[in-house]
Parts: sequence; C-alpha cells; structure tokens
Amino acid sequence: MKKNVLIILTGGTISMKSVGSLGVIPTSELGDFLKQFPQLEGVANVEVMDYLNVPSPYMTPDMMFDLAKTIDTKILGYDGVVITHGTDTLEESAFLADLVLTTRKPVVFTAAMRSGSDLGLDGPRNIIGSVRVASHHESFDKGVLVVMNDEIHTARDVVKSDTGKVDAFTSPGLGALGIVDPDAIVYHRATLYRESVWTERIDTRVDLIKAVAGLDGRYIDCSVKSGCKAIVIEAFGRGNLPRDIIPHIEDALAKGVIVVITSRTFTGRVLPEYGYEGGGKHLQDLGAILAGDLKGVKVRLKLMALFGKYEDPDLVHRFFKQSQELE
Ligand code: ASP
Repeated sequence: MKKNVLIILTGGTISMKSVGSLGVIPTSELGDFLKQFPQLEGVANVEVMDYLNVPSPYMTPDMMFDLAKTIDTKILGYDGVVITHGTDTLEESAFLADLVLTTRKPVVFTAAMRSGSDLGLDGPRNIIGSVRVASHHESFDKGVLVVMNDEIHTARDVVKSDTGKVDAFTSPGLGALGIVDPDAIVYHRATLYRESVWTERIDTRVDLIKAVAGLDGRYIDCSVKSGCKAIVIEAFGRGNLPRDIIPHIEDALAKGVIVVITSRTFTGRVLPEYGYEGGGKHLQDLGAILAGDLKGVKVRLKLMALFGKYEDPDLVHRFFKQSQELE
C-alpha cells in the first residue's frame, strides 16, 4: 500500500531560479510543481505544505526549532515527512530536529545544489529519493535522515563539504548510511550513536568560536560580556588552544559559563591528551568539557536544546558531559 508523505517546503536553492541580473533568487513555484510531479504519484500519496520560503542562511535556531515542532505535530497524520531546505544550514536544521523530535517515523531533509534554471538540476531527483526513503519501512527509527545525490546520511554525521558540487553532502570518516538506487533503497550500515533532548524550548545564548593561529581572548570576552551561557570553541586537532587565551577561558569558567571544546579538524574525537598549557588535558583540568567527535555547529545546537530543557547550568554541564562519556 502506498504511504502518506508530507513534504514541508522551507526554501533554499531547490525553490530558486536564476532571474536575469538579479541572480538566483527564491520563487514560489516548487509547491505547484510538486503537486503535478508525475514521478511522485507511483511512490507515495504526497501532500505539500508551503511552510517557509527563505534562503537557508536566513534560518535561525529559533526558526529551526519551530520547524522541528511543526514536523513532530504534522507527522501524526502521515507515515513520513520530507523537508526541502537550503543546503547552507541544512545540517543544522536536520541535527536540531534529530535532537528534539519525539517521533520515530521517517523524517528526511533534502535540498538541491542547482536551482530550477540550471542544467542537470538535482532538486526533483532528490525529492523523489527522499519520498522513497521516507516511505521505506527500514527508515523507521533511524533518526533524522538527509538524502542528497542518491545517498542517505544521518543528521548527526552529515556535513556540507563542497560549495558547488552535486555530491556536496558527506559523512566524513563514516560514509553514507545507504543509497537510493533505481530499484531499491539499500541501507549499508546502522547508526549506533543516537541522542535526544526532548524540550519545549531552546535557549540560544550559546556562541561558537573557531581557533586560528594566534587566536586571542577578544571573542571569548565578548561572549561572556554579552551574557552567553556557553561557549563552544573549535580548537586545533585533538582539542588544543594557544596558551594566551587561557586566562580568558578561566575567567569565563569562573563566571559560570560552560566552555566546550570541539575540533576544527574534519574527523576524529577531541581527547585530554596534551598536558601543556592550552592542551586538551589542561583545558579539561580547568573545567572545560571535551565534546568527542561532534562538530562545533552541532554542539552549539545541542547546548541550546539542553539550556532550553534544564536552565540550571550545573544540570546542563552534567547532562552534556554524561552524553559524551563512552564508558
Ligand atoms: N544559499 C542556498 C541556501 O542554502 C544554497 C542552497 O540551497 O543550495 O538557501
């Protein structure tokens, strides 16, 4: 029997066209196009919801959270939901949804690297693939999925790793969860690490700072001064920082700000390995939390969800730390 799938449109290049000297800009044509898209008919009973039409750089964590809540409510009436989104912040919307959704039904984010005016456009193909994945029994209870370029990824692992290619989405170090082939949806591997933060609100007072050679303490000071509750630092390698910013980190910690260390390196975990001043071990000894292999943009969203749920920084600290512990 055909499944019932809702497609929620939020904008992005998949909803855009090139309009003369204006460049590539949003249009409102995708909804109508999908309503008469013959290839969808054989796949599922599809309904389309015009939810938003924004370039995804306009998405904020609050908008992402509202989208997740909408998915959780709407999915009650369907077997699965597909969300079309801009590629630029897709991994963030998908990951926040993955954390806060209570549904176990398939939820699939998709997008396009090419606009409706480009030759070889990928949007319609990605949408068909996503609806097939959302209708597939093996997609149940897999967490939020991302389907692009005939590949299925998890929201936790996927990143936009190229600015222009059709195969822009990868899961570095891990590979795709499965593929969308013409005759079948094939899952190659399971995802063993899943986490949820079921919350009714988020608190967005969390900043992300990227380490660069010679990083000084200005950004940390500014975050603390502006009332941030947590600062995520994308450190070097295993989680190391220049020593000059240590007094600034100590000051942040003394003021009750949670400091979380991730890596700016593409794959691998941060570890309390280096004991020199600014090394990961030293940072952990000072009270910073090391965030395993989760990337900075996702750690930031996880902390926003945790602060929305618990408010009390001690609880957030404990829950976050515990969720990173593997043994
Ligand atoms: N700038 C676009 C967006 O994210 C890129 C895309 O959708 O591919 O909205």
